[in-house]
Amino acid sequence: MKFGGTSVGSVNSILNLKAIVEAAAAKERIIVVVSALGGITDKLIKTANMAVEGDNTFNKEFQEIVTRHHDLINVTIPDNEKRTLLLQDVDILLNELHNIYQGLALINNLTPKSEATIVSYGERISSRIVTALIEGATRYNSRKFIKTETKHGKYILAAEETDKLIHSHFDGSCDNIAIVPGFIAQDKENEEITNLGRGGSDYTAAIIAATLNADILEIWTDVDGFMTADPRVINTAYTIKHLSYVEATELCNFGAKVVYPPTIYPVFKANIPIKIRNTFNPDGEGTIIDANSEDEGRLIKGISSINDTDLLTVQGLGMVGVVGVNHRIFRALANADISVFLVAQASSENSTSLGLRHSDAEKACEVLNKEFEKEISMGLMENVRATSNLSTVAIVGENMRHNAGIIGKLFQTLGRNGINVIACAQGGQETNISFVIEADLLRKTLNVIHDSFFLSEYKVLNLFICGIGIVGNSLIEQIASQQEKLKREHSLKLNIVGIANSRHAIFDREGIDLTNYRTALMESKESNITNLRDKIIKMNIFNSVFVDCTANSDVAAIYGDLLSRNISVVAANKIAASSDYATYSNLKQIARQRNIKYLFETNVGAGLPIINTINDLINSGDKILKIEAVLSGTLNFIFNVLGSDITFSEAVRLAQEKGYSEPDPRIDLSGKDVIRKLVILAREAGYAIEQENVDANLFIPQELFDGTLENFWTKLPELDEQFEHERRELAAERKHWRFIAKYENGKGSVSLSKVDERHPFYHLEGSNNIILLTTERYKEYPMLIQGYGAGASVTAAGVFADIMRIANI
Ligand code: ADP
Ligand code: ASP
Ligand code: MG
Repeated sequence: MKFGGTSVGSVNSILNLKAIVEAAAAKERIIVVVSALGGITDKLIKTANMAVEGDNTFNKEFQEIVTRHHDLINVTIPDNEKRTLLLQDVDILLNELHNIYQGLALINNLTPKSEATIVSYGERISSRIVTALIEGATRYNSRKFIKTETKHGKYILAAEETDKLIHSHFDGSCDNIAIVPGFIAQDKENEEITNLGRGGSDYTAAIIAATLNADILEIWTDVDGFMTADPRVINTAYTIKHLSYVEATELCNFGAKVVYPPTIYPVFKANIPIKIRNTFNPDGEGTIIDANSEDEGRLIKGISSINDTDLLTVQGLGMVGVVGVNHRIFRALANADISVFLVAQASSENSTSLGLRHSDAEKACEVLNKEFEKEISMGLMENVRATSNLSTVAIVGENMRHNAGIIGKLFQTLGRNGINVIACAQGGQETNISFVIEADLLRKTLNVIHDSFFLSEYKVLNLFICGIGIVGNSLIEQIASQQEKLKREHSLKLNIVGIANSRHAIFDREGIDLTNYRTALMESKESNITNLRDKIIKMNIFNSVFVDCTANSDVAAIYGDLLSRNISVVAANKIAASSDYATYSNLKQIARQRNIKYLFETNVGAGLPIINTINDLINSGDKILKIEAVLSGTLNFIFNVLGSDITFSEAVRLAQEKGYSEPDPRIDLSGKDVIRKLVILAREAGYAIEQENVDANLFIPQELFDGTLENFWTKLPELDEQFEHERRELAAERKHWRFIAKYENGKGSVSLSKVDERHPFYHLEGSNNIILLTTERYKEYPMLIQGYGAGASVTAAGVFADIMRIANI
C-alpha cells in the first residue's frame, strides 16, 4: 500500500491512513510505502535554493518545515512517551538538515548530490511519524534495499541488486506491518543517498510489490481513482473503473500525474493488479489496472496532456530518400540523453517533427545542428529550430484499435472549435493518438474532447446571451426551467457562461447562477459591445454559442468576428440577415466553412418553423416560386383590434404595451420590419435580394416617420378619423385589412391590402402570422404555415429551438 504526500500531509489524512492500514493489517500482511508530507519535497528544494543564493530568509522557510512536522506529531500522537521519543528522533534529522542548509549558504553551490540528500529528509521523517502512529508497525530503511546506478547523470534503478536485497530484507520476516519510506534510494557503489525521481514513491512500492510477488499494489491518493482527465482542468472528469496496463502506461506517460510512469512496468511484468484508491473515501471503488482490456463501451478511456512541449522540425529537400537520417537524429538525441515523446514524419520524408520537453529543446537543437552541420552548410537541410509554447494531448484506449473513424471524429471536433493540430502521431498499436496544439488552447482542447467522446456525463453547450429585454429574459427563464430535464433526458448541459445587456456583462465559465443574474449584472462593472466581443473571444470556451436577443445593429456587427472564432450565433435580431446581401452571405459562408451554425429562425414569424421549412424544401430539391405572407404580428394585431371602440392610435399603443411591436413601433408601421423579413425569406429561398428592391407601399404619411418618436406619438391620433372611416367601409364590404408581403419572379413588395372571405388570409386572428409557399412541388395547393407570429415567449421558444438544433437534439 503506497500513500502519497496528500495522504500523509494533514492530521485528517494521516488518521485516515492509520485506520486504513490497521484495518488491512488485521486481515493480511502488508508493506506500507509512504511519501513525504504533501508539499515538503518542493519546500526542501526551495529552501536549499534560497540558502545557496545567500537569501537569509531560508531560516524562516526551514522553520516552517520544522513546525509542519512538529504540529502533525503533537496532534496525532497522544501518548506522551511515544511522542517525546519520536520528537527526539525527528529533531536529530531536522538538525542535520539545518546544518546542511547552513553549509550551503556558505559554499553557495547546490550539487545534485546535496539536493538528493536534502530531499531524502522528507521521506525519512514521514516514515518515522507513520511508524509511531500505527500499532505494531516496523520501519524499514529503503536505502538498504532500493539501489540505483548512474547513467547519463541520472539515477536509474539497479534492478539486480535491488531484487536480491529486497528478498533478503523481507523473506522470512514476520512483521505484519512494514513501513518503508518511498522515493529515496542509495547508490549501489558509493553509498550516496539518491532517489527514484520526483513522484518516485509509487515506483518504490511497485518494485517491492513485483519482487515479493504481492497480491496487489494499492496506490492511495487524494482522488477517487484514475480519472478520464486531470480533474483540476476538467471538472466533469470521472473515475475510470478499469484500465489495462497499456492504457494506464499511455496515460501516465503523457502527464496523468496520478501514477509515476515507471511504476506500471514492474507490476505489469509480474502480472500484479494495481488499485488506485482515495484515502479520503476508502469505501470508493477506485480504479483497477490489470492485464484485461475490459470494454466499457466507450471509444476512448482517458485523455492526458503535457503542457511544456516544444516541437523541433528537422527538414530539407535534401533529406528525401536518404537512408539513415532518422537513425542519426535519434542517435544524436539519445547520446545527449534527450527523450522524444512524439515523432511525426511526412511520407515525402522531407521533414521529421519531434515533440519533446521545453527544458530539453535548446540542447536538442544544438545537438542536431551539430550532427547535420555538413548538410546544413551545403543547403541540403535547414537549421533545426524549436517552436515553443505548445502542448501535447493524448487520447488513449484499447477500443480505438480497429475502430474506424476515431481520428476523423477527433479532428472534426477540434476543427469545429477552431483548434489547429500542429503535429500528430498514432502508433501502429492504435491505443494512443497524440497531437500537438498551441498551449493556450489546452484547456479548450481537453474540454472539447472530453465532451465529444462522451467521457463527460453531459454534452455541454456554453451560451453567451446578449440582451435581457422581454425575449432574453423569457429565454433565460425557459432555459432555467428546462436545464434539469435536458440533463436527465438528453445528457445535455446548457451552461449560460455570459449574460450581457447594453451596459453590463457578467461571465462565469462554470455557469452563471440564474436565480439572481439581474442583480449580479447590475452590480458588475460597465461594459460595451467591443469589450463583450473581446472577452468572449478571450474566454475561448468550447462548444460556445452567442445568442442575440437584442434588436441592435452594433451587436449584429460582431457576428462575423465570433463566427470566425468558431462561435455559433443564434439571432432573434434580424439586422444582420436582412442587411446588405454581401454581409448576409458572408456570415453564412463563414459558418459553413467552419462547420458551425448561424441560425435565425425567429427573424420571421417568431417561433413558427418558416425558415427551416424553406431550407428543408430547397435542400430536398424543391424550388420556391412565390412567397405571400402576413409577417407582422404587430400590424395584424392592430388591424384586428381596430373597431368602433378602439381607434388606430390606441391600437398602436396597445400593440406596444403587449410587447408585439418593435421597441420603436415605426419600424413596424413603416413596413420596414416586414421588408426585412421578406428579404430574409427570399434570400433563404435562394434569391439575392436587397431591402431597396422591395416596393414599400406606405399606409401612413412619410412625415410621421421623419420626426422624433415623441412627435410620432403626438401626431398619430390625427390619423384616427380617416382609419375609422375606411374601417366602416371595409366592414360593409365584409373585407379585412391585411399587410401582405409578396415575392414572385424576382420582385418583392409590401402593401396594405383588402382581402375578402375567400382569401386564405381572411381568417387570421390577433397577432398571428401566415405564410403561403408556392413551390414546384406545392403548386396547385400551396403550403400554408400559420400561428402566433409575435410575443416574447414564442420568440424565446424559437431561439431555444435554434439552440437545440446546435446541440443536435
Ligand atoms: P500523491 O501525493 O498521492 O502521489 P499526486 O499529486 O502525485 O498524489 O497525484 C494525484 C493527483 O494527480 C490528483 O490530485 C490529480 O489532481 C492529478 N491527476 C492528473 N491527472 C489525473 C488523472 N487522469 N486521474 C486522476 N488524477 C489525476
Ligand atoms: N516526495 C517525492 C516527491 O514529491 C516522492 C513522491 O511523492 O512520490 O516527488
Ligand atoms: Mg504522486
